Amino acid sequence: MRVERLHVLRADQEANRGEFVTYVVYASHRSVHNYALEYAIHAANALGKPAIVVFPLIERKPHPNLRRFRFMLEGLLKLRGSLEGRGIKLVVRKNFDFLPLIRESCLVVLDRPYLAHQRRYIDEIVKGSESRVVMVEGDVTVPVEVVSPRPEPYARTIRPKVLRKLDVFLEDVPALAPKTPSLDLDVTSWDEDTVEGYVRGIEVDHTVDAVDRLVGGEDEALRRLRTFVGERLPFYSERRSDPGAVATSELSPYLRWGMISPVQVLREVLKHYALNDVNVQTLINELVVWRELARNAAVYNPDFGKFEGLPLWARSTLEDHAGDRREHIYSLRELERAQTHDRYWNAAQRELLSTGKVHNYMRMYWCKKLIEWTETPQRAFEYAVYLNDRYGLDGLDPNSYLGISWCFGAFDRPFFESKIYGKVRRMTEESLKRKSGIQLYLSRYS
Ligand SMILES: Cc1cc2nc3c(=O)[nH]c(=O)nc-3n(C[C@H](O)[C@H](O)[C@H](O)COP(=O)(O)OP(=O)(O)OC[C@H]3O[C@@H](n4cnc5c(N)ncnc54)[C@H](O)[C@@H]3O)c2cc1C
Repeated sequence: MRVERLHVLRADQEANRGEFVTYVVYASHRSVHNYALEYAIHAANALGKPAIVVFPLIERKPHPNLRRFRFMLEGLLKLRGSLEGRGIKLVVRKNFDFLPLIRESCLVVLDRPYLAHQRRYIDEIVKGSESRVVMVEGDVTVPVEVVSPRPEPYARTIRPKVLRKLDVFLEDVPALAPKTPSLDLDVTSWDEDTVEGYVRGIEVDHTVDAVDRLVGGEDEALRRLRTFVGERLPFYSERRSDPGAVATSELSPYLRWGMISPVQVLREVLKHYALNDVNVQTLINELVVWRELARNAAVYNPDFGKFEGLPLWARSTLEDHAGDRREHIYSLRELERAQTHDRYWNAAQRELLSTGKVHNYMRMYWCKKLIEWTETPQRAFEYAVYLNDRYGLDGLDPNSYLGISWCFGAFDRPFFESKIYGKVRRMTEESLKRKSGIQLYLSRYS
């Protein structure tokens, strides 16, 4: 594994005194192609100790609803099975109940999360540790600081920087055999055989239903990846922006929970297609360029995910037009229930409610319209974040705030001035009507 993926958060203190190496699986919910896991096993083998994997079940993260929990827990049960098959114990603990284990560890390994509320959680772990803590950046192709030491304003500025380094970071991560298995270690874990068992024991908001269509877990992610590569990738470039077509990977929830990594996706794609294939290039533009732009913004922009985090020109122009007359104003409740006059928008909201994600093209329209239908651009931004994070299985991701910020002008250029939007690019019904699959989309979500 390339050393640039490693971040030492706490240098050697009382190393070797602890009983085991602990990997806290916070962001990369998978047992294969997991850089942090293999780093932990490698280090444990070198120290002659066992390695355990700790899964913190945090109850009060934003939107602790049944939809998000069920998807995550389906993945957790499968992760436990796969790790046990390799002789590694998965320890589930509620909230911060795992911190005593951190103190007993001779080395702590962490995933790298990018959002502010997740970084605070990492700080708690570092404070609670008496030994070396290493964070591993395993859910991006090229690590953020390697791509660029500064905030990148546009996809076109980050593109050459990330693409230049891409091939050396598409490295394989062979699965190592632990020399000392940890299954018999005397460490208590909250083990249930079913998702329902866990749900009964945690505070979960039951008002957002689970989504049957998407099942959590790394096996599901791999199955979807193979379907994508075999059946959809040949049409990806041509059809990905057609709302009626099923031409994209639908991997965003799996990437969001680290049930698959972007490197895994690209390695599989490149087994079947050449790098210069137009569909592969289009996928790289989304999965690498835009996705890494989101992580760049999460690391370098302290206000990322808020209206205040938008570029000055975008904020000013939207505020200048905040007093423009709006033909329709909707409450959050009306929006949430897809009760607007606009059948396209309602269809997109229904897709979000029923499937936990929205087609990319419709997502842009969905978000832009909020600017038109709320009293202020600040409120529109808040509503977009709320709806996307609450109902999206791929929500609460740097991509979420990148997509929303883009709709409010960030990472885009100023356009001709118009009502309400000012110089921010508008999207109209006319552009939707030109999409050949729009009727099919409407019939699917009406
Ligand atoms: C308002 C708005 C909100 C969004 N919210 C989210 C969100 O909560 N979570 C999320 O993952 N994406 C979000 N996106 C980006 C994009 O819509 C989704 O990533 C994409 O639709 C997911 O479908 P897919 O997995 O089939 O994508 P594919 O086209 O198959 O792409 C593969 C992967 O590349 C990444 N990707 C694709 N498009 C983008 C993009 N524009 N920006 C960044 N990464 C991208 C995703 O990880 C995606 O799973 C949002 C976009 C907008 C405009």
